[in-house]
Amino acid sequence: MDCLFCKIVNGQIPSNKVYEDERILAFYDINPEAKIHVLVVPKAHIESASEINQTNSNEVAYIFEKIPQIASLAGITNGFRVITNSGLDSCQSVMHLHFHILGGEKLPEHIR
Ligand code: 5GP
Ligand code: ZN
Repeated sequence: MDCLFCKIVNGQIPSNKVYEDERILAFYDINPEAKIHVLVVPKAHIESASEINQTNSNEVAYIFEKIPQIASLAGITNGFRVITNSGLDSCQSVMHLHFHILGGEKLPEHIR
């Protein structure tokens, strides 16, 4: 499948990894929008948050279980924001579910 994040998951495209296990991968965003900007993806291909269902939601729950540890490994000590874009109006650009973890500085209060 021609999916950028599947290629990062399987090592075809390199990434700067923060955390990896059998189910998820966390890596630094190539174009950071905060001092610390990490992406967390399930290794299983899920297109977007619109595709979360009863069968795959355990992968999403698992990501959220791991987010505190991933944020800490990335050097975030004072809070963070988690964002996912889903679909055209959100400007989702990579069609493999991912959660942005933003931190390392005081973030703007509003996201638009
Ligand atoms: P989206 O806009 O879909 O919510 O987020 C996609 C994110 O992936 C963007 O923040 C973008 O900077 C990041 N990105 C795109 N291509 C690559 C890449 O090849 N490597 C890494 N590490 N991040 C990427
Ligand atoms: Zn994928």
